[in-house]
Amino acid sequence: MYLCNKCRERLSYKEDSTSEQEGVCELCGNLVEHIDDYFEMFKEETKGYQFSTFLIGLRVSKDKLQRDIESISKMPGKTRNYKEEFQFQLGKKIEAELHYTVDFERPELTFIINQDNMDYSLWVRPVFVKGRYLKKRRGIPQSPWIKPGKGKESEKSVSEYVGQPVCNALEGRNYDFFASGREDVDALMLGNGRPFYVEVKAPRRRSTDFQSLSKRVMADSKEGVEVIHLSFAEPSEIEELKGLRSDKTYEVGLTVEGEHTANIEDRLKGYSNLKIGQKTPSRVLNIRKDKLRERTIRSIEVKRFDGNRLVLLIKAEAGTYIKEFITGDHGRTVPNLKDELDINVKIDYLNVLEVK
Ligand SMILES: [Zn+2]
Repeated sequence: MYLCNKCRERLSYKEDSTSEQEGVCELCGNLVEHIDDYFEMFKEETKGYQFSTFLIGLRVSKDKLQRDIESISKMPGKTRNYKEEFQFQLGKKIEAELHYTVDFERPELTFIINQDNMDYSLWVRPVFVKGRYLKKRRGIPQSPWIKPGKGKESEKSVSEYVGQPVCNALEGRNYDFFASGREDVDALMLGNGRPFYVEVKAPRRRSTDFQSLSKRVMADSKEGVEVIHLSFAEPSEIEELKGLRSDKTYEVGLTVEGEHTANIEDRLKGYSNLKIGQKTPSRVLNIRKDKLRERTIRSIEVKRFDGNRLVLLIKAEAGTYIKEFITGDHGRTVPNLKDELDINVKIDYLNVLEVK
């Protein structure tokens, strides 16, 4: 059996190789002898990436590894199989000469070699950036959308205004944007903003100046979108963010139409933890399944009431359709403000003031 020098060493192979001096190692296929070549490939492939930890991945032919493990089992003592040996030797060389650190748990880069075809590739761990966004101009949708019959909206979305600069700053390949809930296109998002995160795929950079990134978002969106509290996020924080179901406080500007006799202010004071039933709003029935949800209106407060102008502060459970709670949506939300107060109202504006 012909063995390469590395495998002879590894297995303390005593037998003199008189038969063959050169050939293909029957255990590792000469892989271990080519560590220096793979080291150069690693250097080349990771050029331009900012990282500190890595891992060597190796896909091997099962038969070869099996034969190796059998050879080892006949030996006294323990030794690494050729796959482990290769990963160990290449990892050690990279650590020593390039000063990166092997990380078995969460390597930033994984250099994967396929023994069968000598192919190799690089897997880059994504980076998560979290923060809160404010929307200060009406008409900006949260995600890119197509209006039926109108084509793509000309206004960019919050996800693009935020995601693109974040992705560019980290030199990623692309990104995903996720926010905890969403406000309507025509609603502002004020106060302390809404939690979001951006997942940047295959980033070449893993650090950035968040302050200038915030400025960039402001400038790109012409002050329509602002991001605050930007930071890198751990996967556990992302999971937490995904599971958030926050109460929201809304400011709603209304015009009360026609005569109204009821004492609106007094009547509204009576509402706390009002349970309402909401069928899917008619305005989104074409894209969402029709179902009934139970939600709670925590409190309603009159901020201003003069003439026929009414400004309410409404605190509601996550997932409440506020516009429909006010208008009733043709009886699809019950109870609703319109019926309760026996008034006709027009919604002038809606702002989200707080996402807890
Ligand atoms: Zn070998």
